[in-house]
Order: sequence, then C-alpha cells, then structure tokens
Amino acid sequence: MEITNAEFVISNTDVTKCPGGTFPEYAFIGRSNVGKSSLINMLTGRKGLAMTSATPGKTMLINHFLINKSWYIVDLPGYGYAKRGQKGQEQIQRIIETYILQREQMTNLFVLVDSRHEPQAIDLAFIEWLGENGVPFAIVFTKADKLKGGRINSNIRHYLEKLHEQWEELPPYFVTSSENRMGRDELLGYIEQINKD
Ligand code: GDP
Repeated sequence: MEITNAEFVISNTDVTKCPGGTFPEYAFIGRSNVGKSSLINMLTGRKGLAMTSATPGKTMLINHFLINKSWYIVDLPGYGYAKRGQKGQEQIQRIIETYILQREQMTNLFVLVDSRHEPQAIDLAFIEWLGENGVPFAIVFTKADKLKGGRINSNIRHYLEKLHEQWEELPPYFVTSSENRMGRDELLGYIEQINKD
C-alpha cells in the first residue's frame, strides 16, 4: 500500500473525544522507548509525524493520524515506565484499557516488543489480557537492524515459544526496523488486507 497522505488530527486523554466517524483504527502500543514513534514515522514516510524523544514515558496521550483520508494510525501511550510513579501508571492504564475495550473503530492493535530483549513479564501479561478480552492484535518486533541475521531468528523463535506456553494459536507477527524499513511492506499489506475485508 502506498501512503499518499498522513496528517495529525488530535491528541487527547479522553476516549470520548477521539474523532467521530467510522474509519478503521490501527493502534500501536508498547513499553516506552520500544521504537513506537520511529515505527509510525517509518510506516508513513513522515519523519516528524509522531514525536520521537530522548525522554521516554513523556506522553500520556492518544494521538490520531489520518492516513490516506480513510483510516487512522493511533499512537497509544507507552506502558510500564516506572518513573511515572504509581498514580501516573494507573492513569495510563485506565486510558489504554478504555481505548482498547471501548473504541469500536479499533480494528487491530499492534503490540511492539524490542527484538533484542528476552520476553518481558509486563508485555506477556499485557498480551494475556488482550487474549482474555478477545482483542485482535499482532506482535511487532522492533529494532531488528540491531541484531545479526541469526540472532533475529533465534530471538523471534524464543519469543514465540514463550507465547506458545500461553496460547495454542500464535498471533500474526512482523519483524521490523525503522532504520532500514524492514517489515514495512508486510505490515502495511496486512492493514490493507484487513481494510479490504
Ligand atoms: P518510543 O518511546 O517507543 O516512541 O520510541 P522512539 O521511537 O522514540 O525510539 C526510542 C529510541 O530507539 C530512539 O533513540 C530511536 O532512535 C531508537 N530506535 C527506534 N527504532 C529503531 C530501529 O528500528 N533501529 C534502531 N537502531 N534504533 C531505533
């Protein structure tokens, strides 16, 4: 799929204030610093669209980006950033849960995990919660350029095996790099296919 148009629409913390209408929404989530903003910029080909920052955990906002005037990329706040403190964490969790469970336009959630790291308890717990609630999701492995070929495959296999302990059926997954655009066509092709169905 070609992205010919990508524009920022609105940021807010209130799900009821998200844009009206029925355009499908593809939301992106992950721990702070996982590479979410970079991925959104890479997918859309717009460098400054999502704010990348050296200060992780800063934003508590739901950001809507209108793509090709027909669907949205939704940038959800990063979870699991301890420096926000307990109250901040709970607030984020409430925003995230409300969006995911109540937003009818939410078509697929992309859960980002860093391809270099061991499966993290917080991500596994989040994925389990998605499964329990019947939320359609896919996994996106990020920063694959930081690994040598063989390591990518073994890390992904290891992650999937870990998920397999919880789930009989594995979710779709994508291996990506915002540095070299790995996985871009696959991920956008996946969205295009769902939009067609
Ligand atoms: P966010 O907090 O999840 O939005 O993460 P960012 O997109 O701001 O990225 C966090 C850091 O990881 C930044 O220093 C990025 O330059 C770096 N980064 C993000 N994606 C990649 C990638 O695919 N490859 C490499 N090498 N670095 C990345």
